[in-house]
Amino acid sequence: MPLPDYNLHEAMEVVVIGGGISGMASAYYLSQRDGVEVTLCEQGENIGHGSTPRAVGGMRSLYSTPVHVNLSLIALDVWNSFEEDFGISIDYRNNGYLFGVVDRTQYEYLRQDIFMQNQLGAQTEFITPEEATEYVPGLNTDRYMALGWDPEASQADPHACLQAFSKLARENDARILTEHKVTDVLQDGTDKVRGVEINDGEKEIDADYVVNAAGPWGHRVAAMAGVEIPITPKKRETTVMEPEQKLPDTAPLTIDLGSGAYFRPWDGDTILAGGHFKADDPDVDPDDPSSFADDVPLDFVEMAMTELEKTSSYFGMDTRIVRGWSGVYAITPSNHPILEESVPGFVNNAGHSGRAFMHAPATGQVVADLVTEGETDLVDLTALRTDGLQDRRGQLPIPYRQDTYN
Ligand SMILES: Cc1cc2nc3c(=O)[nH]c(=O)nc-3n(C[C@H](O)[C@H](O)[C@H](O)COP(=O)(O)OP(=O)(O)OC[C@H]3O[C@@H](n4cnc5c(N)ncnc54)[C@H](O)[C@@H]3O)c2cc1C
Repeated sequence: MPLPDYNLHEAMEVVVIGGGISGMASAYYLSQRDGVEVTLCEQGENIGHGSTPRAVGGMRSLYSTPVHVNLSLIALDVWNSFEEDFGISIDYRNNGYLFGVVDRTQYEYLRQDIFMQNQLGAQTEFITPEEATEYVPGLNTDRYMALGWDPEASQADPHACLQAFSKLARENDARILTEHKVTDVLQDGTDKVRGVEINDGEKEIDADYVVNAAGPWGHRVAAMAGVEIPITPKKRETTVMEPEQKLPDTAPLTIDLGSGAYFRPWDGDTILAGGHFKADDPDVDPDDPSSFADDVPLDFVEMAMTELEKTSSYFGMDTRIVRGWSGVYAITPSNHPILEESVPGFVNNAGHSGRAFMHAPATGQVVADLVTEGETDLVDLTALRTDGLQDRRGQLPIPYRQDTYN
């Protein structure tokens, strides 16, 4: 799209909507660009009002499409040296990632995917169940044909990462405004964005560009600019458990591709464990407090334990459930995000399903490119445009490629 003429402006004003990791990383990378003034608007009393602090904190390159692998490689490059580069602790652990393969169909798909990942520069490979016990000593080796292993994958604390990007953005003079709910996107007669309305008319903020990073509210914010994006908000739950035996602090995030059950080491002797097990998966309202609950229902715990017990010896009658919570995935038909300038001056960075946390340093850089250059050479965005989403639906043939893997 042609760039607007900024000659009359002293600076380019950009409003980022959403104080989660997508918005904050976008704000940070925008604030690094010359002549860009950034204001981030968050509707909540604090940043992190959405899913970000509720994520499990896994990052990986094990994906089935090149664009996801490329986003991961760019993001991991940032995450893997974040603490050294910025001097901020994010509870970073370079523990790797394991995908447990339970049948031949999964094996064949993962074999093709690992080949593609390696072509793009990822160090992923298959390892045997016996080799995997070096990382997860209690693994049930009888269950798995093989495991996909991603040695460069990591884990971190998503809340700490959000705070870190907020600090870095503020150091670059970005304004972070809480209790600023964007209630309209203001456009001129040609649909070009000219600002946002806050709190139902309380005030307006002028902007040359507006970035939609509203997570599971993303479709509602896009509608304010007359843009339809197919995001469906879906509830996802996780639990903190004390396992039957200590899971090493160095253990990878381990996912069972048969059920989607996962676990990773967390604080002290505890682990985070969860998955999505129910056949029905209704859309939820992100404004309903039960979507962001601070507990989990008993039937979720029962289903999780049934599947987790199959994976390893960490789960059984003596496992203690400490607590749990839920958050909301922003799912699109292709399970890929929408990353594009949809109408002049309005950039979508939403619909990331279960991946916005890990991909945020990459998507933030892409947003900064789109706003300041009108294009990016970091990744091919073809599959991430609104007009590409429906076409890709048929390319997701097997269940593990839905929000667990893809
Ligand atoms: C249990 C669970 C486990 C997960 N595990 C992982 C994981 O291991 N790895 C990973 O990468 N991802 C994971 N995710 C997914 C991850 O949490 C999300 O993809 C990510 O946090 C979304 O970030 P976001 O910034 O796009 O959206 P959010 O964090 O939801 O932030 C959106 C923000 O926009 C604000 N907002 C909305 N509308 C407006 C408005 N009109 N005006 C102003 N502000 C507005 C909201 O208040 C909110 O703060 C997990 C999610 C859950 C629930």
